[in-house]
Amino acid sequence: MNKDMESCEFCKKENATLNHKISCRILHKSSPSQEDLFSLITNLLERIDNLEAQTIRKTSQIQQLLQSLNKSPSPTSSFETYYTSKEITQIQLETCLTNYHKGIKDILSKWFKPPNLPIKAFKSKPNNIFIYEKEHWTRCSPGHLAKLANTITKKLVKWQNINKELITNDEKKTQVYCNFILTICDHKTQRLSFLKKSLYTILTERIAV
Ligand SMILES: [Zn+2]
Repeated sequence: MNKDMESCEFCKKENATLNHKISCRILHKSSPSQEDLFSLITNLLERIDNLEAQTIRKTSQIQQLLQSLNKSPSPTSSFETYYTSKEITQIQLETCLTNYHKGIKDILSKWFKPPNLPIKAFKSKPNNIFIYEKEHWTRCSPGHLAKLANTITKKLVKWQNINKELITNDEKKTQVYCNFILTICDHKTQRLSFLKKSLYTILTERIAV
């Protein structure tokens, strides 16, 4: 085992990093030595440098990818126009009512089928999704995801309105529907990260890169 990753002698935390051990030693001593502080600061600075270098490397790789996407033939419609034109089926709605996550995955995999998709993801770029909008490729932001999530919700609610009588006349169905509404209104951040993860999986499993 790496010597840096042994347990901390002060708080007994296992696999403690060197930074942890230094910080812990300072916290457990009434007056940290100048040497302790110096070594903590140099360690932190080194970490910041590494993180900065990593970020710069990743950013430039993504810029290169976007450039090459922008040089390739463009999709026929923008991301938003594309999914706004898609519909939700009765079966998909019913799946969403009983198993929200499965229902959403079903919808996404039907909607985002190749070829010529205005959305892409690559196994070599984990956690990144790229979309085509305003005539160029860009990174999919939480704002873009929120718009997609809202569109799906609107389409689901539209379906529910059509089925209103059916739902309110049946006690069990009313309960299922109430749970569904709670799910879609709750945990916005979690819903967005679920959406992103599902999209990434659907896109990367279809396109081999
Ligand atoms: Zn500790």
